[in-house]
Amino acid sequence: MANLLIIGAGGVGNVVACKCAEAAKRTGVFTNITLASRTLARCEKICANVRNRLGYEIRPARVDADNTPELCALIRELKADTVCNVALPYQDLNIMNACLECGCNYIDTANYEPPETPRFEYSWQWAYADRFREAGLTALLGSGFDPGVTNVFAAWIMKHKLDEVQVLDIIDCNAGSHGQPFATNFSPEINIREVTAKGRYWEHGEWVETDPLSWSMDYDFPEGIGNRKCYLMYHEELESLVLHLKGIERARFWMTFSDSYLNYLHVLGSIGLTSVQPVNFEGREIIPLKFLASLLPDPASLGPLTKGRTCIGDRMKGIAGGNPKTFFIYNICDHEKCFEETGAQAISYTTGVPAMIGSMLVASGAWQKPGVWNMEQFDPDPFMESLGAYGLPWSCVELHDK
Ligand code: NDP
Repeated sequence: MANLLIIGAGGVGNVVACKCAEAAKRTGVFTNITLASRTLARCEKICANVRNRLGYEIRPARVDADNTPELCALIRELKADTVCNVALPYQDLNIMNACLECGCNYIDTANYEPPETPRFEYSWQWAYADRFREAGLTALLGSGFDPGVTNVFAAWIMKHKLDEVQVLDIIDCNAGSHGQPFATNFSPEINIREVTAKGRYWEHGEWVETDPLSWSMDYDFPEGIGNRKCYLMYHEELESLVLHLKGIERARFWMTFSDSYLNYLHVLGSIGLTSVQPVNFEGREIIPLKFLASLLPDPASLGPLTKGRTCIGDRMKGIAGGNPKTFFIYNICDHEKCFEETGAQAISYTTGVPAMIGSMLVASGAWQKPGVWNMEQFDPDPFMESLGAYGLPWSCVELHDK
């Protein structure tokens, strides 16, 4: 039983709030739930959504998570013991500091990034391991879909299907459409930082760098989604998975993009609007990407507009009982069904459900272990059971291609 504080009232925050309320009603794992961000009205709107859909009361609160004393005061007032951080990656370290100061467990969905440089790495958060261990607190990093479910999929395959893995390809397909000229399915600033960064993959013990979106492959997705073009990107879960998967020789991450999205991105990038370097505008310093993000649709507003499905999974090739085997383990999620259930599209839904499950497993003690951990470092079974039970059913198929 836990007092839970959710931080971040965006598209993902809405789904986390709905799903935590559902878990509280089904299991009693959360006693009190509070949702806080800088804009109280956003929190109030989400709390009303939860009340209308689930008849459950979540308390709205205002907090600037960049202000550690303010955040600590709220945590103490609420007597929160678990914090689920679905604000922006810039807040991760401040929230971890507040958790240490106030004795709370910590869960997030995206690694810390310094605002001035798009860098995707766990070093800053892994550096907190001793402090969390000494405090007897658990920090669970990357409990979204990718990272998150993709890490747990890999751990499940290693537990149940393969003795060792040689090749991992994480493949993220959004086969849905929102009908907007250009919009991102989650935080525009974070999404564009990620997509415009250099690609990177792991091969034979070292990282190989590629130009942004310069490599692609066609992949035939199951259950009628069909053939789609996927682009190689760097994604943060690769960093921990290559350390924890026995035998891994190559690990890559792929994502589908429409030609239209890529054309817009190319034009915006070529005129400097995706840059994070400050420029002077009418006597004031602005960051072009922040300005662009402020003009783009709020991801939470895409819910009623988005149709189609997502398919995200891990293709893993390795050895079982001395024989070569390849598996594809995946979830398919329907945007319109997500909207009907929570008022959010599938990208927020596929992130919010695992953020709730991670919070539930930490709060219940099933995944409590003092220190800082990535998802594949825990037993995957309780997580996989909850995935299906809370709206993200998954399938695992053996592939017989080369
Ligand atoms: P949004 O931009 O929609 O929401 C982010 C929210 O954070 C805003 O509502 C904002 O509210 C709040 N926020 C920002 N700064 C602060 C602050 N200083 N203090 C308190 N609250 C703050 O993003 P999403 O909901 O789409 O994404 C949320 C997180 O989920 C991001 O970190 C993203 O990277 C991650 N993500 C992870 C995925 C995964 O699979 N692992 C996939 C998709 C997203 P306000 O302005 O009121 O403060």
